Amino acid sequence: MKLLVVDDSSTMRRIIKNTLQRLGHQDVLEGGDGVEGWSVLNANPDIDMLITDWNMPEMNGLELIKKVRADSRFTDLPIIMVTTEGGKAEVITALKAGVNNYIVKPFTPQVLKEKLAAVLGISE
Ligand SMILES: [Mg+2]
Repeated sequence: MKLLVVDDSSTMRRIIKNTLQRLGHQDVLEGGDGVEGWSVLNANPDIDMLITDWNMPEMNGLELIKKVRADSRFTDLPIIMVTTEGGKAEVITALKAGVNNYIVKPFTPQVLKEKLAAVLGISE
């Protein structure tokens, strides 16, 4: 399974990537903002899941999600948003834009594991 992690914080990308790798997902690509994320996704349309931050320069996570969902290749791509924007209005906005699940920073590896499983339909 190939995953794409998009966040403007290299520290956060490393944390998410390390957690994913400990969960057995070795194939993890990265993007530093929405523009980069979009170009990585287009270069690798076989990506199985997108994990994206909200607040980023150039193109934010919400804009990225809208762009992804507007493309017929990625209609069913599982998307998890990982963000400090934990307010109810933000969560609703993200869900409406097409995210499958939502993680509020800071988060534990267990939470990431559970959300991944939920999105992939895997029971633990
Ligand atoms: Mg950010």
